[in-house]
Amino acid sequence: MFDDGFCTHCGQKGSIACTVFSKHAHVMWIPFFPIGKRTLIWCQQCGTEYKQLLHVPPVLQKQIKDFKSGQRAPFWQWVGLALIIGSMVNSIIGEIIESRNTKKYFNDPDYKDVYCISSEGVYTLMYLCDMREDSLFFLHNKYTWSKLSSEVKQLHRPHFYRLNTIYGYSRDDLNKYFYEDKIIHIIWRNLPFQTKKMNLSEEERKLFEEDEDEEEDEDEDEYEEEEEDEDEYEEEEEDEEDEEDEEDEEYEENEEDEEDEEDVKNIGFQF
Ligand SMILES: [Zn+2]
Repeated sequence: MFDDGFCTHCGQKGSIACTVFSKHAHVMWIPFFPIGKRTLIWCQQCGTEYKQLLHVPPVLQKQIKDFKSGQRAPFWQWVGLALIIGSMVNSIIGEIIESRNTKKYFNDPDYKDVYCISSEGVYTLMYLCDMREDSLFFLHNKYTWSKLSSEVKQLHRPHFYRLNTIYGYSRDDLNKYFYEDKIIHIIWRNLPFQTKKMNLSEEERKLFEEDEDEEEDEDEDEYEEEEEDEDEYEEEEEDEEDEEDEEDEEYEENEEDEEDEEDVKNIGFQF
């Protein structure tokens, strides 16, 4: 409301009022950012709306302009953009921490570290189950993820790992995979097994842990031989391929239960 000026329609003094609206862009009704202001100028006495500033009594034009530029867009109009920027910053920080940890864990490995590795354009996991002076030993995951994202952690489930073979890699080879070939992408420590949408009961998990312990003891001789005798290692690979059919069947059963995991494919992973 302005004290100066007469309404050009009804002649009332000081009846001109002005409201400033701030428009904003929105996505799905979440305001993203303000996109300019609009003024509504009208006479409170006769109700006439002044569509153009030119029609307003000249004495008021500058006052209205000043009023308009003095109005700031309300904070909530930035909510969407703030959320986006916030989540980007968050994920960038997350990635920095992850890559720093990956290097740390690689240089000082520990039991149960989980490695995200790539092979032929897809990603899978391996699980560190034993260490020697010059070698590390892993369980390989049976499944792959189509892209490198934190979603790949979904594969970290006890029964997704191939328990019948333990793969040993020399530390030299691992260094090559990590620094030169970039086959090893992310390493997690203390990564809990995924249980969401898997209907994995506590009992099943217990069973797995018992199996795993037994298996590690049993397999100890087996993988030491692997290192010495490469031919035998290759034979084992062939066996594994034969087993894949069975695993396919197994997986199809799972698929019905997990509609969200269509990205998962069966593989026989080899470096
Ligand atoms: Zn009027």
